[in-house]
Amino acid sequence: MSSVFANDAFAGKTVLVTGASSGIGEGTAKAFAAHGANVMINGRDAARGGAVRDAIADEGGNVALSLGDVADSAYCNRLVAETVDRFGRLDVLFNNAGICLHGPVDETSDDDWDHLIGINVSGSFYMARAAVRQMKAQGDGGAIINMSSECGLIAYERLPAYSATKGAIVMLTKCMAIDHARDGIRVNAVCPGDIDTPMTDLGWAHLDVTSEEIREKLKEHIPLGKVGQPLDIAHAVMYLASDAAGFVTGTLLPIDGGTTAR
Ligand code: NAD
Repeated sequence: MSSVFANDAFAGKTVLVTGASSGIGEGTAKAFAAHGANVMINGRDAARGGAVRDAIADEGGNVALSLGDVADSAYCNRLVAETVDRFGRLDVLFNNAGICLHGPVDETSDDDWDHLIGINVSGSFYMARAAVRQMKAQGDGGAIINMSSECGLIAYERLPAYSATKGAIVMLTKCMAIDHARDGIRVNAVCPGDIDTPMTDLGWAHLDVTSEEIREKLKEHIPLGKVGQPLDIAHAVMYLASDAAGFVTGTLLPIDGGTTAR
């Protein structure tokens, strides 16, 4: 998949990607680094995070890794401070870290609900707040891209708790966009459909199907007839982070092969 961005499109920019040790976050961190950005990656797993950091560095990327949990407000503040210590500033936050949990409400425990809200909603909020404070202190704007989902826009079976968290991200995005427009901080959200990552298999864990069978099934309901790749999201995030999106804020961008157009 080729990119429309110049190789140095993000030279001199510092991009922070949460949940970058796999899936969409990994793909997006690699894409930003390949286009000249300084990239701070966050993850919880030292081995997986270290592997992503090393892969980016081996390609000549300027990268650092921070291990920690975005559900921890103090860590989120530290993560932004570490980014500024390492690279001098923060220009872009891709607020990507998240988990998914399947099942109807009557099968969802308090602990599961609290865990999901803690990471997907509180984690996104803490990161966005820390980034806004830093960007306002810098005084020359910035871009925040929050991770919602097609599940933040339309209803699916067995996903009420997860969808509630992704719906919350929709309004966090819109309200932040209004509040910080005059600070030059643009806030948008991406709403992916089915993307080929480890998370995609989770929803089918209660059925006896292979990863290949899951992807074949998904293709049937996606209008474009294919499952998305992390790079499909990375390119949209890069657009929203770039000056090409200088008049774009408060937007929800579905990247879903047409699913939510139905
Ligand atoms: P993934 O499981 O591969 O990646 C999730 C990443 O978030 C992992 O690196 C994980 O370690 C990290 N993470 C989870 N909890 C964390 C925490 N508390 N602190 C720090 N990092 C944490 O799955 P993915 O598909 O790449 O998911 C990335 C984001 O995209 C999630 O927010 C997910 O809800 C969203 N999303 C995914 C899809 C899809 O089809 N895969 C669709 C829509 C939205």
